[in-house]
Order: sequence, then structure tokens, then C-alpha cells
Amino acid sequence: MESSLSTNLHGKRGLVVGIANASSIAAGCARAFVAAGASIAATYLNEKSLPYVRPVTEALGCTLLLPCDVRIPGQLEAAFARIGTEWGELDFLLHAIAFAPADDLHGRVVDCSAAGFGLAMDVSCHSFLRMARLAEPLMAKGGSLLTVTFYGSERVVAHYNLMGPVKAALESAVRYTAAELGPKQIRANAISPGPISTRAASGIAHFDELLAAEAAAAPEHQLVDIEDVGALAAFLVSDGARRITGTIIPVDGGQHVIA
Ligand code: NAD
Repeated sequence: MESSLSTNLHGKRGLVVGIANASSIAAGCARAFVAAGASIAATYLNEKSLPYVRPVTEALGCTLLLPCDVRIPGQLEAAFARIGTEWGELDFLLHAIAFAPADDLHGRVVDCSAAGFGLAMDVSCHSFLRMARLAEPLMAKGGSLLTVTFYGSERVVAHYNLMGPVKAALESAVRYTAAELGPKQIRANAISPGPISTRAASGIAHFDELLAAEAAAAPEHQLVDIEDVGALAAFLVSDGARRITGTIIPVDGGQHVIA
């Protein structure tokens, strides 16, 4: 008999924020959500990104594709309003977005500008809290909020720079969100993948060295891919993960246990 706790997302509806192209972590997660039976809505950053995002979402039967640049006042709110109108409720949300201005990202953390730090925090961290707040009224029956972080939050990873403190704040935001929304049966978790070649990753200097170091250090000597992240994401938004909240879960072939 199939357990009611296996990864089964039939009947669930989720919003996926962060698909830039077919290689995005959010694309791997979206594919896993749909493969497990969910229906998804998704966002795209702007008209320039649409030709790369639409083929991914169309292949998944996603009919709600909404513009969302979290820096544009009202756009995130409009996306949630549309979901409210179309669906009236939401079961899960994936926040897989990050940004830091190149000058600030490539310099020392101690030298980063207040403006660059603020923008990186706004897009990569505060947007998660905004999404949680907007999702809350749509999750009257409970729900699951997911974001994506990186080990550079805990330990100094060469060239990760400004994103280290930003991801540390994001992880803390997950814990507070889990505590605050837990009484409403709304869970919040973060996945912490090992390095994966994506567009955002290409903004980090010497990313190829990070990939090589990861493959050398990880007990399995294997790099993770977006399918690995998708499998965990689908589980975390399923009922099987109903008692898992406030956690940061690595998908890194065990690299985090190596000194
Ligand atoms: P990606 O470039 O495919 O995705 C980044 C997304 O952020 C894009 O869809 C982009 O449109 C979106 N974004 C940037 N600024 C935005 C804004 N103002 N408003 C709305 N969306 C905006 O890269 P990815 O690697 O899939 O990144 C997804 C998440 O995974 C990020 O949070 C990243 O930090 C995290 N992560 C990535 C890795 C890795 O090695 N690739 C490892 C750990 C964590």
C-alpha cells in the first residue's frame, strides 16, 4: 500500500519564483513539483528573460506566468493578487532568487557599499519575508515556504564575499518565519545545495575552482545538479515533510561534513 506520506503533490498548487532558464535551480524544482503531481504558477524577471523562461514553464503545463522583479514596487504584490484571483489559495512557494551588484560582490566584504549591501539584502533576503507575508492569507489550510541558500553563509568560501552575510540573514529569516507562521501550519525551510553552474553562479569569481574543490572534497566526489535539488524540494513541500520546519538542509554530496 502506498504511504500517504510519499512525495505526492497531486492537488497541490505552488508558486515558483526564480526561473531564469532551463538550467536554473528553480527550473529543476519546478520539474520535480510537476512530476509529483503539482500545478505551478511561475514568474519571470522581465521581457528580456521571457524567451528563456516561457519554454520551461510551457513544457510543465504552467498557464500562470507572471512578471515579477521584486525591486519594482507593487509587482510582487500584483503576482500574489493574481494567484488569489485565479486559485484563491496556495500550497507552497519556492523563492530561488538572489542578486548582488558586481562591484560589491567582487570586492572585500568589509569594503561593500551600503547601497550594494542593501540591494543584495532586499532582493535575496527581504523578498523572502515579503513573499511569506503575501502567501500567508492564501495558506489558510497551511503551506510550505522554501528558499535556497549556500554554505558560504556559515563558513568563509573564497569569492562568495557579500553573499555570505546575505545568506546568513536569509537562513535566520527562515527560522523566524517558521516560528511565526508555525501556529498556522505554514512551514519554512531552506535547501543548501553545493555549487551548480547557473547564470547566477557565473557572477561569482573563479566559480570553476569552487566546483573543482567541491568535487574533490565531497565524500561522494560528485557534484549536485538541479534534479537533486528538485527531489528534495518536492519532498519538502509534500505532506511527508509536515513536521519539518525551520531547517537548512544541505544537498551537497556530504561536503559540509568535511573539515
Ligand atoms: P539563476 O540565475 O538561474 O536564478 C537566479 C534567479 O534570480 C533568476 O531567475 C533571476 O531572474 C532572479 N532574480 C534576480 N534578481 C531578481 C529580482 N530583482 N526580482 C526577481 N527575481 C530576481 O541561478 P540559480 O543558481 O538557480 O539561483 C537560484 C538561487 O539558488 C539563488 O538564491 C542562489 O543564491 C541559490 N544558490 C545557488 C547555488 C549555485 O551554485 N548555483 C548554490 C546555492 C544556492
